[in-house]
Amino acid sequence: MSETSTTPTGGHTAQALVTQGASKPFERSTVERRAPRAHDVVIDIKFAGICHSDIHQGREEWGQALFPMVPGHEIAGVVAEVGPEVSRYSVGDRVGVGCFVDSCRECENCKAGDEQYCLEGEVPTYNGKAYDGEPTFGGYSTSIVVDENYVLGIPEGVELDVAAPLLCAGITLYSPLHHWGAGPGKKVAIIGMGGLGHMGVKIAAALGADVTVLSQTTSKEEDGKRFGAHHYYATKDESTFEELAGHFDLIVNTVSADLPIDKYLGLLGLNGTLVHVGIPEGDSSYQAFSLAGMRRSMAGSKIGGIRETQEMLDFCAKHGLGAEVEVISVDEVDQAWDRVVDSDVRYRFVIDTSTFGSGAD
Ligand SMILES: [Zn+2]
Ligand SMILES: [Zn+2]
Repeated sequence: MSETSTTPTGGHTAQALVTQGASKPFERSTVERRAPRAHDVVIDIKFAGICHSDIHQGREEWGQALFPMVPGHEIAGVVAEVGPEVSRYSVGDRVGVGCFVDSCRECENCKAGDEQYCLEGEVPTYNGKAYDGEPTFGGYSTSIVVDENYVLGIPEGVELDVAAPLLCAGITLYSPLHHWGAGPGKKVAIIGMGGLGHMGVKIAAALGADVTVLSQTTSKEEDGKRFGAHHYYATKDESTFEELAGHFDLIVNTVSADLPIDKYLGLLGLNGTLVHVGIPEGDSSYQAFSLAGMRRSMAGSKIGGIRETQEMLDFCAKHGLGAEVEVISVDEVDQAWDRVVDSDVRYRFVIDTSTFGSGAD
């Protein structure tokens, strides 16, 4: 029995975890992958990270979703086959796929390498439709077919399991840290130390910044320091906000809960910036004076472009960075989702797709 049986259109059937609706558990099933076009890369998926946004989409917490759904946009694997005009990758290369698999390639944002802000709307890796109308299915699967321009190279020196979460969590933190100049002489705070936050600590420290974790409690302080944080403060403790008033150049908020924005803005010094990468569901409110009083800015940031994602992967390889992962089998994904919601993971679940079993070689 083979993993890949050819379909009438020349594509193949991949094993996949499929959910049929917002409250439905995963089933082991299959998904049809297209025949490789001229620039397509067929990837044998080895590991797929579980991102909190998989859960938001799979449970329709962000509005109506497309079912059946195969989530997963933190994909690491090996090239199995390439289309006739592929030049960037060869069979056997270690590669990754992140949150989108295509974009218009013509708008000013795409041309600038900011495909994640494509004006036509980039094509999400799952829970979306390609420009030809075909639904997209993500990484909780044994293979995927993606245009080479939306595939990343995973350098030697980063194992595939710890590389997978870099494709979303890693770039989500790298992009704002890079954009707002985290580096030597800069005081950077990361709010929250979960899947996103722990990567923020590692990357900000490797960039040379002075790194502080702002977490509800100090329960993960030992880990935070091991990941490179220089300081660790509990936000439950009111004295934290007095002690650190006006202290930071940059604060990156990875938490999706509602925060008292004014209190955090008060931690920024002159020209400091608070960047949101965790997106709360409700409205946020703050006083304009919290910004004006010290020429502060508040901003948001969403993943990163293809070029920047490759830069992040190369940076992580150079500095020996990967995610802290708990590798699980395909049968553990439902429980893993519940544990992510309970913040009971240190720090990212990664699905080992070899556990699809027979045929998944
Ligand atoms: Zn994600
Ligand atoms: Zn575009």
